[in-house]
Amino acid sequence: MKTIEQIAAELQGYDPKALPADQVNAFLARLVEPISESEDVGIFDALGRVLAEDVVSPISVPPHDNSAMDGFAFDGAALGESPLVLSNLGTAFAGKAWAGRVGAGECLKIMTGAIMPTGLDTVVPIEFVKVDGDTVTVPSGVVKPGDNRRFAGEDLMAGQPALRRGQTVGPAALGLIASLGLPTVRVVRRARVAYFSTGDEILSLGEAPREGAVYDSNRYTVFGLLTRLGVEVIDMGVIPDEPVRLEAAFREAAARADAIITSGGVSMGEADHTKAMMKQLGDVAFWRIAMRPGRSMAVGRISEKGKSAVLFGLPGNPVAVMVTFLAFVRPALQRLMGAEATPPVLLQAKSGEAMRKKPGRTEYQRGTVTREADGTLVARTTGNQGSGVLSSMVQANGLIVLRHEQGNVAVGDAVEVMLFDGVV
Ligand code: AMP
Ligand code: MG
Repeated sequence: MKTIEQIAAELQGYDPKALPADQVNAFLARLVEPISESEDVGIFDALGRVLAEDVVSPISVPPHDNSAMDGFAFDGAALGESPLVLSNLGTAFAGKAWAGRVGAGECLKIMTGAIMPTGLDTVVPIEFVKVDGDTVTVPSGVVKPGDNRRFAGEDLMAGQPALRRGQTVGPAALGLIASLGLPTVRVVRRARVAYFSTGDEILSLGEAPREGAVYDSNRYTVFGLLTRLGVEVIDMGVIPDEPVRLEAAFREAAARADAIITSGGVSMGEADHTKAMMKQLGDVAFWRIAMRPGRSMAVGRISEKGKSAVLFGLPGNPVAVMVTFLAFVRPALQRLMGAEATPPVLLQAKSGEAMRKKPGRTEYQRGTVTREADGTLVARTTGNQGSGVLSSMVQANGLIVLRHEQGNVAVGDAVEVMLFDGVV
């Protein structure tokens, strides 16, 4: 396990007081180690889990050559310039092998999925032929030899990896696993993430409002983001700015979880006990990131009884929490979960408005992408971009990412958008 100091030494030009956003991800990729434990789960429990090993196909799918259409199967070699007249011997149904042989000048009515009889390679769809009693006429030009036949193993070959380790199991993968006849699959142990909010001014739900205090929203957005990611959540509540309470919370979190997420108390000027406790119990770096919103963050490891957990000390402002989570914590947690790295696919859009932007920091603007009548995708911001303003986050369907070097944006300029789709 590398220390903060060792990782810092590996990164060119690392400056904790002015860290470019890209360097944060590079740092976290070195800090976080994937969970190595795995377990077998039933197929229904595999949804959203990460495969701990390749799934090797024990069978070929489909197991035999079969028809892709309802029609008539015959030997395609007989096709030529003039219509082909064949005599029908019977019907092959799906799920039942047709026992007889089909020779020259003969055909067999066949249903979709039925096994192709030996020697036949072509199926003409039923709507293309003329049927008169047992006589079937195939007009010229409607099929080529080999049409409408599916090969054994065309989807998957026995002995080949059907799914790769590190892949997250979605609905298509569930179906694929089932198509192999596998009732269970080996997945990485679910990551456990503990989180709490800090600050004397933070009220828990149910507490009476008091002057200067605000209700805790961060624990709820973090709960939602973590749940959608598919980790096991450990909610540790609101911890006031008292050394004894903070120490107990950090120790308990480090003992129970693989990762700890806190919010609040990490900004540079902060004169509270949160940072002191992080320093005392762990190996932690305090960063000022060249980004907006966000800026302050603490990362490292907190240890308790020989076990350690990765720490993400997020800023307090509710939108800063979400943005730092999406930009940094989420990819880091995916690595922890054993998932292969899938950087978010950014959508290219045209800016529907002018935006002020200072080069030298990455800015994340809450916005919506809509398709205009002419088909272009246009990104617009959703109002007040203050780092505490959640309502503009709620209205947004993505974050407009204005990169480090970018300056002011004019109407019509190309911008990139990180879509929330299923994540936020
Ligand atoms: P801090 O990073 O602790 O200086 O907090 C920055 C701002 O975010 C302050 O206005 C806090 O009141 C607010 N804040 C901190 N934690 C929370 C929370 N859990 N829910 C809502 N607002 C918060
Ligand atoms: Mg504070």
